[in-house]
Amino acid sequence: MTNINHHYLELQGSYLFSEIAKRRTKFVQEHPDAQIISLGIGDVTRALPEAVIQAMHAAVDEMARPETFRGYGPEQGYDFLIEAIIEHDYKARGIDIQSNEVFVSDGSKCDVGNIQEIFSADSVVAVQDPVYPVYVDTNVMAGRSGAFDKTENRYTNIVYLDCNAENGFKPALPDRKVDLIYLCYPNNPTGMTLSKDELKKWVDYARENGCIILYDSAYEAFIREKDVPHSIYEIEGAKEVAIEFRSFSKTAGFTGIRCAYTVVPRELKAYDPQGNAHLVNDLWNRRHSTKFNGVSYVTQRGAAAIYSPEGKAQIAALVDYYMSNAAIIREGLASLGLDVYGGVNAPYIWLKTPNGLDSWAFFDKLLSEAHIVGTPGVGFGRSGQGYFRLTAFGSRDNTEKAVERIRKLSL
Ligand code: PLP
Repeated sequence: MTNINHHYLELQGSYLFSEIAKRRTKFVQEHPDAQIISLGIGDVTRALPEAVIQAMHAAVDEMARPETFRGYGPEQGYDFLIEAIIEHDYKARGIDIQSNEVFVSDGSKCDVGNIQEIFSADSVVAVQDPVYPVYVDTNVMAGRSGAFDKTENRYTNIVYLDCNAENGFKPALPDRKVDLIYLCYPNNPTGMTLSKDELKKWVDYARENGCIILYDSAYEAFIREKDVPHSIYEIEGAKEVAIEFRSFSKTAGFTGIRCAYTVVPRELKAYDPQGNAHLVNDLWNRRHSTKFNGVSYVTQRGAAAIYSPEGKAQIAALVDYYMSNAAIIREGLASLGLDVYGGVNAPYIWLKTPNGLDSWAFFDKLLSEAHIVGTPGVGFGRSGQGYFRLTAFGSRDNTEKAVERIRKLSL
């Protein structure tokens, strides 16, 4: 008899997106002529930038000739991509990152999900609520969460950092000792950001309390405002306490191509049971090169192309397109008197549901009366109840139509 990893039994069903699909399907069956607009998904819709396409075509041609063919590459990523990342994402902002601190991967989902396995099974984990579910579920699988308390709607051993309108979606520091803190800025789902001073508070806290911050910056490219830090390493001392995750998915339309990277500074240490310090970078390198065999050469050539002058201009245009959608939604809904958050430095708009409707009741109203699909905030955690997420990743036409339809609702 073989036993399973029984921690998997603590996972709650991926209720959110299956329930959305179920309700949408039922509505479409009953109203086959309804023109549904989806502003629910977190996936991009625009094609790859031209510079990326050209670089990938050229790389395919290289792979077609024996003289330039490439087999396995370095697990950590090719130098040409790592150098471009260091130069443009860090050095240009006055941050010094070394090539052995960057790990190229096939997505931030994998990286933010896998990172926990290099830390002790009894590490105490803190997450923001509402939260990107991957942080929670991967710690459930690893046995760190404790049981799911159905009354509380939370895992007993996870420390939840509430984000709500009262605290401006900026959580308070943990009220008990934690080891790992997941922070996501610009935030999914709230679309909110921290200023440098606010982020410094977290870095200082981590330094004083011996915690590690897992900083998910998948939406960094959408930052518009000056005071918003692009990297946690803009904060003094952050290299001693933080790992940073970045993705090309939303920046350059890579959700289907798959490429991301993680920065693990050589200053960052964690401890064995005897209290000896170890470099987290060494552990992650070991994990990465044991379980991962590198991102394809063609993909990495495509990713590197976004750092060329043409690539930079093209991704700026791509991000502008989505952020104009965000402005249309944000301003459209605000003009109706709704409380709207996010959408300024992030492609997500987070709104307070009107008239005290709960998240799912508002979902049903939007679907049945405006034929729009969004995402109920409660699906991201208890603190998301009474909120709703719309995304800016649709087409301009659909985004405008959606706002017009919402305008006609009685809210
Ligand atoms: N982190 C956050 C906060 C996300 O919202 C997403 C995707 O939606 C990811 C990570 C995953 O990114 P990737 O496509 O690189 O796996």
